[in-house]
Amino acid sequence: MKTIGLLGGMSWESTQSYYALINQGIKSALGGLHSARMLISSVDFAEIAELQRQGDWGRAGELLAADALRLQDAGAELMLIGTNTMHKVAPAIESAISIPLLHVADATAAALKAEGIQRAGLLGTAFTMEQAFYRERLAANGIDVVTPADSERQAIHRIIFEELCLGELRDSSRQRFVQIIDALAAEGADGMILGCTEIGLLVQQQDTPIRLFDTTRIHAQAAVAAALG
Ligand code: GLU
Repeated sequence: MKTIGLLGGMSWESTQSYYALINQGIKSALGGLHSARMLISSVDFAEIAELQRQGDWGRAGELLAADALRLQDAGAELMLIGTNTMHKVAPAIESAISIPLLHVADATAAALKAEGIQRAGLLGTAFTMEQAFYRERLAANGIDVVTPADSERQAIHRIIFEELCLGELRDSSRQRFVQIIDALAAEGADGMILGCTEIGLLVQQQDTPIRLFDTTRIHAQAAVAAALG
């Protein structure tokens, strides 16, 4: 089994999910007392979120690249960035390390294609929904993306940073997400990408008939497959 490196803490609420899902995946594949070989570097998310707000992606990339290199030096054999948004700086991280980086959008596109879905709704931070780095990666993998209207994008972004990353799960916010998901389905989305690693804490498959693709689960499963492959 390969040792998985995880850049976590973005937020730590979803890093808990990654840790549990990866261990569950290894246990279900190998049985018994097996668990994942894993190294986690967990950042102070306030520092990263401030750099996001300032648009200082260069500095954020340097910080995460330095953490990734430390994990590689400590024995990590493959790398995960435990947030969709910070894949914006994936090129800086990849250029600092020599082990493979498992890109969350590649894993997500593969999961969508396996279900025959070519047009999906994308929910995430404003950075993920609006900027090219994520949508273009999906497009390069043959996935067409639709995003919510401006006011809905703002609502999602606010809920992520002011509630989900702080561990607050509110019924009113779940209902808002479901309304937004329904609207995207009416626009022709055949599946819905939960493109932020905390959304799956709030919205689950039982909340909507539309097929959900939770990037945290997909990314964790891809890591398990790569660690065992
Ligand atoms: N975890 C979130 C994501 O998947 C948002 C936090 C961040 O901005 O990194 O995008």
